[in-house]
Amino acid sequence: HKAPVRVAVTGAAGNIGYALVFRIASGELLGKDQPVILQLIELPHAQNALKGVAMELNDCAFPLLRDIVTTDSQSVGFKNADYALLVGSKPRGKGQERADLIKDNGKIFVDTGKAINDNASRDCKVLVVGNPANTNCLIAAHYAKDIPKENFTAMTRLDHDRALYQLASKTGSQVTDIKKLCIWGNHSPTMYPDLTNTTVHNKLIAPTLDHAWIDTFFNPKVGKRGAEIIDARGSSSAASAANAAINHVRDWALGSEDWISMGVPSDGSYNVPKGLIFSFPVTTKNGKYSIVQGLKISEYSQKKIDITTKELLEERACVENLLK
Ligand code: NDP
Repeated sequence: HKAPVRVAVTGAAGNIGYALVFRIASGELLGKDQPVILQLIELPHAQNALKGVAMELNDCAFPLLRDIVTTDSQSVGFKNADYALLVGSKPRGKGQERADLIKDNGKIFVDTGKAINDNASRDCKVLVVGNPANTNCLIAAHYAKDIPKENFTAMTRLDHDRALYQLASKTGSQVTDIKKLCIWGNHSPTMYPDLTNTTVHNKLIAPTLDHAWIDTFFNPKVGKRGAEIIDARGSSSAASAANAAINHVRDWALGSEDWISMGVPSDGSYNVPKGLIFSFPVTTKNGKYSIVQGLKISEYSQKKIDITTKELLEERACVENLLK
């Protein structure tokens, strides 16, 4: 029998949390033979709601769920955590500037980084979902000095999966027929969904597509999909965000056949400034990811990569005082 794995989730009683924790408990994150202990973290005012979530988790009688911790203390919540899914983040207030939101959330991730450092497993794998995810991740990693930097990642998998669907729909194929698609950069509308190397049924697809469709339909469709869903549903894309978080961590932990997109600390690949949390095409194996190397970057792609790099550098500049 496998020993249980501890999975910490912040913002666990929020919208995404509610769509996420049941799937972790059911075995969709780490496999149907891997028992888990859920360590659910919420702000003090949300403790009642969190207890309700825990009651429902118990009522599911999940065979793999060995224990549930509910807490408002990060040191309790991250204790010996093997995985940390950082979902909790402050939403942008009415009329609030993005730069102020970045600073507000940045402060939250200082404490989170320290708490992970002081309490979690030395090999804790971290996924940041709460926005601005890449920059929050940069801060958490900075304050978790004793945990390898490469264990800190940000979610661009939802952008990746949205792009897969759009291309499948355009080409009349199944998402599983598509390989080697990737997202570059920030989890924001500046991210770049790159089809240069993408194959459908093992054939390069870009030469068969109208460039205008890519530039004026596909790119903005993927980049602004979140807003489109808010318009339609009246609330944000919590279920698909939770699904992407599951896909990200599962593929990281268990490996993936195809390229996936993950926001990871840049090692300087493709001239992306070292240390920025940047989405690259990666492959995963045995609990490690590696950035796909040696891709030729067209002039069009380079322009797109430059735009999203510039935005991430600006975000980093906003929180410079937290990174000393
Ligand atoms: P959600 O669960 O809907 O969203 C949580 C975070 O995920 C937000 O930052 C949101 O960004 C981000 N996100 C990333 N991708 C997506 C996507 N595709 N669709 C929607 N959101 C996405 O927020 P709730 O307010 O329902 O829940 C957050 C919980 O976190 C609350 O229960 C709150 O108590 C808790 N919280 C915890 C904090 C902490 O740990 N210290 C701090 C603040 C809140 P965006 O806002 O851009 O949509």
